[in-house]
Amino acid sequence: MKSYDAVVIGGGPAGMTAALYLLRSGVKTAMAEKLSPGGQVLMTSEIENYPGFPKGLQGWELADKFANHLEDYDLHRINDEVREIKVGSPWHTIVVGDEEVRAKSVVLATGSRYRKLGVPGEERLLGRGVSYCALCDGNFFRDRDVAVIGGGNSALEEALYLARLVNKVYLIHRREDFRGHICYQNKCFANEKIKVIRNKVVEEVLGDSDVEALALRDVCNGEQTRLELDGVFIFVGFEPIIDFVPKEIEMEPNGVVTDVEMRTNVPGIFAAGDIRAKQCRQVASAVGDGATAATAAFSYLEQLD
Ligand code: NAP
Repeated sequence: MKSYDAVVIGGGPAGMTAALYLLRSGVKTAMAEKLSPGGQVLMTSEIENYPGFPKGLQGWELADKFANHLEDYDLHRINDEVREIKVGSPWHTIVVGDEEVRAKSVVLATGSRYRKLGVPGEERLLGRGVSYCALCDGNFFRDRDVAVIGGGNSALEEALYLARLVNKVYLIHRREDFRGHICYQNKCFANEKIKVIRNKVVEEVLGDSDVEALALRDVCNGEQTRLELDGVFIFVGFEPIIDFVPKEIEMEPNGVVTDVEMRTNVPGIFAAGDIRAKQCRQVASAVGDGATAATAAFSYLEQLD
């Protein structure tokens, strides 16, 4: 079985930063990532609030810069899905694909996946008008009409991105006030292609072989309406990816519990980024979590030795 001082699980901004800090401290490190490094950032059209890039940059560009930064270090890459962690002392065993590796410290940084609306038609019409990624699928809807569901930063940002491509974006939110940053709200409200629909929820995605319309219900007066369109982009939040997290680790509904040093309740296991139970979900905070987790893991390894 291969042995490491540290295994970082997940190759998004938090995981890549944790790996970078561990490697720079001379820690023998592996990073397990089932897809290509980048995480959710790869699906983000434009990032305007990462310090140092005042003009903004595409999500994939930032992911590339993070990945390139690791190139000069001796990082062992494991390209498979982590299925299980067996908690031990001092060695934790990580089941990744069909292989097992062991590590004295583990950083959980698998991030989050999009949340579904859970309405009829959503699953059936996935890929046939229903999408969770504007960057991936927006181009299919050039000069057509689409809806964006949600009122957070993702919905607002992706509505702005889609407005550059499509004929019209219906931005549909379930209440009056938006959760997303005021700067994105102002841009959306000023955009002629974006029509804001408040206080309405989607009851069903309608269509035979492709999306044709949404069945909406007004939450104030119960009125039901049908909105004709060609596509629907759903951005109603994210859920932490925790399928593989061992039962010994303390969890809350929105993620893994850590202290300020990113330590979980299990010695040697740390968590960073969107997998954590926390409020702020930003690339900048994921990077900070990654650096903090790596520093705490390094101290832990020093104490073990
Ligand atoms: P979010 O902030 O949790 O917002 C989710 C939105 O979806 C909310 O407006 C929520 O409505 C709505 N919603 C949830 N369930 C719904 C349902 N069943 N039906 C209809 N609407 C529903 O999620 P997010 O926008 O994906 O952002 C996730 C995190 O990433 C946040 O911390 C966000 O700040 C961060 N983020 C940051 C940036 C950036 O800074 N550039 C970009 C993207 C994401 P309510 O408001 O009524 O709850």
